[in-house]
Amino acid sequence: MSPLDLLDVDASLSAEERQIRTVVRQLVDEQVRPHVAGWYEEGRVPARDLAREFGKVGLLGMHLTGYGCAGSSAVAYGLACLELEAGDSGIRSLVSVQGALAMYAIWRYGSAEQKQHWLPTMAAGETIGCFALTEPDHGSDPASMNTRARRDGDDWVLHGTKMWITNATIADVAVIWARTDEGIRGFAVPTRTPGVTVREIRRKMSLRASVTGEISLDDVRLPATARLPEAVGLKAPLGCLTEARHGIVWGALGAARDCLETALEYARSRTQFGRPLAGFQLTQAKLADMAVEWSKGYLLALQLGRLADADRLRPDQVSVGKLNNVREALAIARQCRTILGANGVSGEYPVLRHANNLESVLTYEGTSEIHQLVIGQRLTGLSAFA
Ligand SMILES: Cc1cc2nc3c(=O)[nH]c(=O)nc-3n(C[C@H](O)[C@H](O)[C@H](O)COP(=O)(O)OP(=O)(O)OC[C@H]3O[C@@H](n4cnc5c(N)ncnc54)[C@H](O)[C@@H]3O)c2cc1C
Repeated sequence: MSPLDLLDVDASLSAEERQIRTVVRQLVDEQVRPHVAGWYEEGRVPARDLAREFGKVGLLGMHLTGYGCAGSSAVAYGLACLELEAGDSGIRSLVSVQGALAMYAIWRYGSAEQKQHWLPTMAAGETIGCFALTEPDHGSDPASMNTRARRDGDDWVLHGTKMWITNATIADVAVIWARTDEGIRGFAVPTRTPGVTVREIRRKMSLRASVTGEISLDDVRLPATARLPEAVGLKAPLGCLTEARHGIVWGALGAARDCLETALEYARSRTQFGRPLAGFQLTQAKLADMAVEWSKGYLLALQLGRLADADRLRPDQVSVGKLNNVREALAIARQCRTILGANGVSGEYPVLRHANNLESVLTYEGTSEIHQLVIGQRLTGLSAFA
């Protein structure tokens, strides 16, 4: 049992959920942990190789059913996200974008042919997907997007630019959201289609073990079959985001746990003023407060996971989890950094890497402010932003 699980939440996990957690933890220990500091430093990650490894154990689209997907529970999926993000938020992002955004969009809104065409190889990690909603001028307000899709005979022609797209440079298929005369629609766009150009976004100071890119669509001509037939209006991409945000609620706890475990071990072994740092009351106060927040976050994640498994999870409840768990995980990472002193800023330890990553996690999939507004709307019945 983890010493961080102050409330014995682990005891309410099923044997299967614990088994999945063990498998993912081992995978992260073997395939991610030994290398991730180097990937982060270099700003490169062998994402395709990792995707194949993750595909072998059924991690990609694991909460979806059919088409080679594992069909696991939402809680099991959450636990997998937690373990992946204990390695690095960028690695969890690879899996989230593939499974909860790109695959989910096709699984939920695609035609039978689209599902059969894309999902089995995506589940295996042979085909990589990305999800392109954000634009250079429209992030929190995707309803104002500029990317257009117009009909030309039976074809669709897409024009516009998508920005900050995870997995963009390695993707075989991009789920592109565009404005049509009838409103927002989604398209499964093979990235080799003429007119699609992808540029990697370099110099990120966060999520460096993750590829991020800009996608330019210069009159990209697509057959009618590229449109996701069931995706109608902005609620379609927002539905995908609810899926992915649920994974983040859990994932952020993984980054925080890795920081806390590192700080605990460090505080026990580092001696100043003749005693271990862990023996000072001020250090214990920090550790206690962080462990309390972590435990509350774990309870929150489990409650949301159980609601999802009962098909009762509302988007505003996911906002509660995303807002709280990412905010607290970032606070924990920063506080752990102080316990490590100078070593806290070193890449030899994972803490500042996690803190830097969590800055992106705080922003993507709805910023903290947007989640506050969603919760505010739930409380007041008044929308302050839409
Ligand atoms: C590493 C990384 C990976 C990403 N991956 C993807 C991806 O795969 N696909 C994708 O589509 N997008 C992705 N994004 C984009 C991400 O979702 C957006 O950055 C996010 O939605 C915020 O948009 P913005 O950056 O344009 O900020 P803005 O919307 O310009 O917001 C700037 C600030 O203003 C605040 N703000 C905005 N509106 C309001 C309001 N009404 N009231 C109060 N405050 C407000 C915001 O909360 C924020 O603090 C990624 C981003 C990063 C950093």
